[in-house]
Amino acid sequence: IITPERFRTMMLAVADAIFANRDWLSELDGVIGDGDHGVTMDIGFAAVRQGFDTPRDETITQMCDRMGKVFLDAVGASSGPLYASAFQSAGAAVSDRLNLDAAAMVAWIEGLSDGIVARGGACVGEKTMVDAYVPAVNAAKAALGAGADITDCLNAATIGAKEGRDYTATIESKRGRSKKLGDRSIGHMDPGAASAHVILATLQKAVS
Ligand code: ADP
Ligand code: MG
Ligand code: MG
Repeated sequence: IITPERFRTMMLAVADAIFANRDWLSELDGVIGDGDHGVTMDIGFAAVRQGFDTPRDETITQMCDRMGKVFLDAVGASSGPLYASAFQSAGAAVSDRLNLDAAAMVAWIEGLSDGIVARGGACVGEKTMVDAYVPAVNAAKAALGAGADITDCLNAATIGAKEGRDYTATIESKRGRSKKLGDRSIGHMDPGAASAHVILATLQKAVS
């Protein structure tokens, strides 16, 4: 079970992982975008870390709302409003929960994904973070349906995200800055899909 305190620890682990992958994510973005994705995500999660430094008496939904707000305030790039919607939507998906069980953890990931789609309007196959999140959600739901616990649901989500991330290297961009490259974007992984996998893989590691 994931308590608010454990959830806070998990988000701090994600902040560390984004920092550790910052240069790689910016390098990926340098190939098909403007080269700042690692920096923008790190700015967002550094702001989250600052806000989470002192434990507060908050629900998971309240923490998610705060994460959304700091992303919107701190991050100027496209990922700012996308993750602001993601966290807000993920928090809303578990607003009736004090702690997260496997079903709620999967609902949280689905909320994250739905928030990004609602804000950015991207579909699967357009070479964005959606290509990592949608298969992650599908895999996590399938695992949940087969009776998986939190660790196994997050494990399935991570595998789905990795497959989706790798798939983005095979397709042409239809969204965001990389769109203008057209078929020259083929062969290069989408940075937003790469950071999505980092986030889910870190959550998986944090619970196992
Ligand atoms: P910017 O492009 O403004 O510099 P970032 O570099 O932080 O922003 O983020 C780029 C990533 O944002 C892309 O790799 C892609 O995954 C994601 N992205 C861009 N547009 C959309 C969209 N409409 N929906 C979902 N994800 C998107
Ligand atoms: Mg960028
Ligand atoms: Mg930018």
